[in-house]
Amino acid sequence: MVREAITLVCSECSNRNYRSTRKARATEKLALKKYCRCCRKHTVHKEHKK
Ligand SMILES: [Zn+2]
Repeated sequence: MVREAITLVCSECSNRNYRSTRKARATEKLALKKYCRCCRKHTVHKEHKK
């Protein structure tokens, strides 16, 4: 199965904190709660390609 590399970006400070992969065919945007060192708390991280 083809998987696509994505970067997870903090929605509050735009820091690129995590790398991940997902199914290339998935159309909906990923939004995950992750810890951001910059904000020092859990924030929503959204996917950002490459
Ligand atoms: Zn942040």
